[in-house]
Amino acid sequence: MSFENFKLDPRIVRGLQAAGYEQPTPIQASAIPAFLAGRDVIATAQTGTGKTAAFVLPLLHKLLTHPKRGRTRALIVTPTRELAEQIHEVIKVLGKFLPVRSATIYGGVGMQPQVKALQRGTEVIVACPGRLLDHVQRKTAKLDQVEMLVIDEADRMLDMGFWPSIQKILRLVPAERQTLLFSATFNTKLKYLVGNHLRDPKRISQDIEAPADTVAHALYPVSQTMKPEMLLRVLKEISSRSVLIFTRTKRRADRVSERLERAGYTAVAMHADKPQNQRLRILEKFRTGSIPIMVATDIAARGLDIENISHVINYDMPDSATSYIHRIGRTGRATRTGDALTLMTWEDEDIVRDLNKILGAPVERRVLEDFQYDEPFLRQKAEPVKPKTLNGRHTVTVRRRM
Ligand code: AMP
Repeated sequence: MSFENFKLDPRIVRGLQAAGYEQPTPIQASAIPAFLAGRDVIATAQTGTGKTAAFVLPLLHKLLTHPKRGRTRALIVTPTRELAEQIHEVIKVLGKFLPVRSATIYGGVGMQPQVKALQRGTEVIVACPGRLLDHVQRKTAKLDQVEMLVIDEADRMLDMGFWPSIQKILRLVPAERQTLLFSATFNTKLKYLVGNHLRDPKRISQDIEAPADTVAHALYPVSQTMKPEMLLRVLKEISSRSVLIFTRTKRRADRVSERLERAGYTAVAMHADKPQNQRLRILEKFRTGSIPIMVATDIAARGLDIENISHVINYDMPDSATSYIHRIGRTGRATRTGDALTLMTWEDEDIVRDLNKILGAPVERRVLEDFQYDEPFLRQKAEPVKPKTLNGRHTVTVRRRM
């Protein structure tokens, strides 16, 4: 399969060349022809699969085939500001040689520049739901000419409580439209919610349960209180090029990054409490490598398109095996190799079990010879463990090795 098969406008082909994309990714190979043929699409695909270009390319092509300047004909709804900026960037790169304008709309920044961009006329809006509805209410954004609606990261928007806003948006856009829905997971609830909003959608599924096999996984069992020590120890072992550390809360992200700074590392925290312009600056610095370590919460880091992340460290175990896959989706892309290192406590055992199932083998547990494990940890280790089977294996044997 090659991009030529899609017969995209030659100016888009130039954009593809500028972006350096040579071959469509599997999700692009399935979604682009369906979108071009006018079908609604439900795609289950995680970040890192090339899903953004999977909707941006056909969307741009369709805007060119029946040009109507100035009207907002494509709306992309996405959960976070960072994702909105990232999608906007992809549109700018792939649409470099096109007369198509795109505007980003999200909260946390002034209304006025967005109002101006909307007044000038924009064919594409990339928006977070809340601020978009503010604009609609003030009549500074009009959605009545939307022909293409992309709902990005639908599962996350559901988790973040955006669904009522999405439903309002679905009522605001014309019924006669094409809808594409992208989600990393597709559960019964989401299925029910999107039910009659899409017309005979083509379903495309990128096997989300299989994380990139260029990633090596390892668990570092430790007690909660010893995590700071363990993190320093783990960092010492890796010749870190670009490390993304995840914590469960914003406060913890701050604390961990402060601790790393005190230990002599250049690190920065990234979470939703930081002002938007600061977040963009941090991202840029992390992207360019001037800050090698970023400590982030899930929401802040969701879908971040940063290349060259060599290590993802879960300071806190994510709340599910699926979130684990989301997190590590940022490392080991394409042919690069990456490491996913997780500090695990005893409470994380259930999630590790799910993860082992997904990966098809127990994740390696690393016990460090020269690390001062604390009393509570050693006591827990000595406690008898109920044998549990997993894929026919007894996890108890793995646990005793710790
Ligand atoms: P996404 O899943 O949309 O976040 O994309 C992940 C990364 O893959 C981004 O850095 C894209 O620029 C890159 N990418 C997307 N499509 C292609 C392609 N066909 N060839 C090479 N890289 C791509």
